[in-house]
Amino acid sequence: MRSAEEMTLNMLMKRECYRQTGTCTGGLCVGWNAQNVMWAVTDDLDKEFGTDYHERLKKWILHSQQNSLVVAGALSDAKGDRSKSPSKQVNPDSNVHLVEKREGGIVVRGAKVMICGAAAANEIFIMSGSDYREEDKDFAIAFVVPRDINGLTLVECRHPSDERELADGFDSPVETGITQAYLLFDDVFVPNERVFLAGEYKYSGNIICYFTANYRSCIGACVTEQGDVMIGAGVNMARVNGLSAKTFKDKYVHMAVLNETTFGMGVGAITMGWQHPVGVWFANDLMAHVNKVHVATLPYEVKRTLQDISGGIVETGCFPSCEDFNNETYGQYVQDCIKAGSCSADSRARAARFAEWLTIGAGVPGCMHGGGSLDGVKLVIRGATPMEEYAVMARKLAGIEEEILEPQG
Ligand SMILES: Cc1cc2nc3c(=O)[nH]c(=O)nc-3n(C[C@H](O)[C@H](O)[C@H](O)COP(=O)(O)OP(=O)(O)OC[C@H]3O[C@@H](n4cnc5c(N)ncnc54)[C@H](O)[C@@H]3O)c2cc1C
Repeated sequence: MRSAEEMTLNMLMKRECYRQTGTCTGGLCVGWNAQNVMWAVTDDLDKEFGTDYHERLKKWILHSQQNSLVVAGALSDAKGDRSKSPSKQVNPDSNVHLVEKREGGIVVRGAKVMICGAAAANEIFIMSGSDYREEDKDFAIAFVVPRDINGLTLVECRHPSDERELADGFDSPVETGITQAYLLFDDVFVPNERVFLAGEYKYSGNIICYFTANYRSCIGACVTEQGDVMIGAGVNMARVNGLSAKTFKDKYVHMAVLNETTFGMGVGAITMGWQHPVGVWFANDLMAHVNKVHVATLPYEVKRTLQDISGGIVETGCFPSCEDFNNETYGQYVQDCIKAGSCSADSRARAARFAEWLTIGAGVPGCMHGGGSLDGVKLVIRGATPMEEYAVMARKLAGIEEEILEPQG
């Protein structure tokens, strides 16, 4: 991605993908981002260490493009005890790490978790998940593997709301779902041509910096589009309840304002970005992180508004299962209770389950922690906001000539 325009197109693609699938499309997000980030980091690395990581990456990217590979991306480790660094964990496999360097490649083991799109990807791009020091150098690694490589087990993430697959199944939305998985590496051999970082911990921080700028700007598009789907679900809910959609027009406007805020802020962060000497475009760090704060908060208000419009059938959990709906003895009575507007009881049930799935089920998109938790994001915002400089500006404009010092003690 060499320009703001190219990155904005990625946002538009994500928005369209959400429209089609209603869910997160990992191969177009973390995997895409990993390739762009490592394009820059391998250049940084080669300049300092004389390695040939950039050339390796270039060859692999050409192979990936020529074969139209879908590539998921994995940064998040299982981590273990959050107060300890990877090398201090009781279970050394809480984080993916280097086990051995061999002539033709490296051996890795450990767990990456909550990886979007992994089950549907051809390949998985692995990057270290934090900024490491010397003691954790074995955790500073980046490589790419085919999803079906020997020694890698994928465990699909499931949510109870996806488990209720009954006969003709309105209990589980049929046209959408989740794609996250745990990745368990058990002494997997990765040939050198697929390795792009192997112990040079000094550059693990660059991975996180570059990654978060682009991820946290583009994710604005994902939550926007899921918000658009929620407006649509709200319109349908009004109608299946027998009400005109217009009854709630102010609420749809409220939802749209929240949705477009994260999209616009993402585009803004990209537009105000910068170009790495090797050519990759990175979004403005401060604006991208501010966007992530909105991404982690505003969609919950959109969900609340959808529940408000929908009624208790969506929000209270008091809604019979598909099995009861079809029960031979009392099923018709249940259906008569569910029927409200001019459409069938089945359509109202499906519309309601979908709205429930979006707001309290597996359709909740991970806007809070996906791409990193809020507290870490706020640390970056604090660091990038020059408060002292602003205080001097304000003092000058207020006509204060003496210095105003921080109280002692
Ligand atoms: C839907 C979804 C999709 C995802 N897809 C991907 C993907 O495709 N690829 C990928 O790599 N990752 C993915 N992730 C993982 C995501 O990046 C992580 O969830 C995120 O980085 C937070 O990590 P965690 O879940 O381990 O949270 P935790 O580390 O358990 O954080 C929980 C809370 O504790 C705080 N905390 C943690 N450590 C400390 C500490 N040392 N000191 C003080 N406070 C602390 C955090 O700020 C947070 O408030 C996805 C997550 C979700 C929800």
